[in-house]
Amino acid sequence: MTFSIPFDNSYARLPGAFYTAQPPKPVAAPRLIAFNDDLAKLLRISRGETEEMARVFAGNAVPDGATPLAQLYAGHQFGQYNPQLGDGRALLLGETIGTDEKRRDIQLKGSGPTPYSRMGDGRAWLGPVLREYVVSEAMHALGIPTTRGLAAVETGEPVYREGALPGAVLTRVASSHLRVGTFQIFAARGEITHLKALTDYAIQRHYPDAQGPLGLLTAVRDAQAKLIAQWMGVGFIHGVMNTDNCAISGETIDYGPCAFMDTYHPNTVFSSIDRMGRYAYSNQPDIAVWNLAQLATALIQQMEDKEAAVEEATTIVHAMPALIQDHWLATFRAKLGLATEEDGDLALVTDLLQHMAAQYADFTNTFRALGADTARDQFTDPSAYDNWLPGWQARTGREADPQALIARSNPAFIPRNHRIEQMIEAAVGGDYTPFHRLTTVLARPYDDQPDHAELQRPPTPDEVVPATFCGT
Ligand code: AMP
Ligand code: MG
Repeated sequence: MTFSIPFDNSYARLPGAFYTAQPPKPVAAPRLIAFNDDLAKLLRISRGETEEMARVFAGNAVPDGATPLAQLYAGHQFGQYNPQLGDGRALLLGETIGTDEKRRDIQLKGSGPTPYSRMGDGRAWLGPVLREYVVSEAMHALGIPTTRGLAAVETGEPVYREGALPGAVLTRVASSHLRVGTFQIFAARGEITHLKALTDYAIQRHYPDAQGPLGLLTAVRDAQAKLIAQWMGVGFIHGVMNTDNCAISGETIDYGPCAFMDTYHPNTVFSSIDRMGRYAYSNQPDIAVWNLAQLATALIQQMEDKEAAVEEATTIVHAMPALIQDHWLATFRAKLGLATEEDGDLALVTDLLQHMAAQYADFTNTFRALGADTARDQFTDPSAYDNWLPGWQARTGREADPQALIARSNPAFIPRNHRIEQMIEAAVGGDYTPFHRLTTVLARPYDDQPDHAELQRPPTPDEVVPATFCGT
């Protein structure tokens, strides 16, 4: 084979109880849709012959040095503990050390059944594969920690959901696929030796300066607090913040029914399965704290002095809301063009958001255009904005270069739902032009790209996507 990946695998050396080793299940007719050259370079992978890459990223050929395995984990799904989940349709091929000396996982998603598939077929259809590829790469370009898309292939086989749909496999790259749920499974089973080995592994891999389980808890808290604030800053709704979809690394993981808001409202929910609004936009900070509490509960099981550990862990978890709030305010200050801090800033932000919610303003376009007429145009009744504006102008008058800060803190382009849906529809019909266009434009979200201005437009009433569905 001329195509090779410089694997350096560590997870496969962990105890066998952590995973099930198995090869991917070959597909009928692999065809390469996308290969991410920039990311490949970072991973020290050089482009191979197209058909060979299609075989590798479909799971039809296992490259030298790969140790394919399905990872075991558990997790709270919508608050209910599920004692065993695991990679039901994914396989970790292995890891590489990038040109930045960072270790990253390379995982096939949609690669066939595993012992953790439960009732599922182990497959993915084209829509969610393209959605995850586009949205995760957009997230990366926005400067938000995330898993990434290395490749996407069509399998040439149907996948049966509502009806027959084209099958696909995504190759996903992550700092690791360690989740809160990876810790939960060993803690819940009372497998303390495994829990300790996992804790040591996670510390070594992600937070080498962390001291012991509670040091790890603190580091995860800090990473997650920053991540959630960053999501809030771009109007992102994850949609399934189950503990198995919460990465220890602080990266965004598992793009299922996720969505970026068009019109701002704090209660926005897209996911068709989130009927109670548990994972609504404005609930995300609380859920992140809840998830951290689950990690704390798991980590504590390995501590000698449980009473002291509970007390210390409680203090760590209880500090998280204020940390998120600090990151949140810093994020929104920047969005308003404020590089310095003043007492009235919080009120300036919350007042604007309240007016936006009441007047159906587009989240992305309002912030991007602050101060310009195009921001005013976002409000059905602009008088609220007009009343708010002088206070903001007086405040930015004490700033050196608010416009430059606004331009680099507020994206012009986000992956809008209706564009994602249109892109998927076109791809199912064999036209990948919208996919390539979205990928290209969203790689530079903070740049004005006048040729693509129509991708900044919110959906027309008949383009609005009312609900999103899990990527199964
Ligand atoms: P998710 O909600 O996508 O994070 O998935 C939750 C669990 O369901 C994980 O254990 C997945 O591996 C599993 N799963 C999701 N879709 C499938 C599928 N099509 N086949 C097998 N397992 C699946
Ligand atoms: Mg998941």
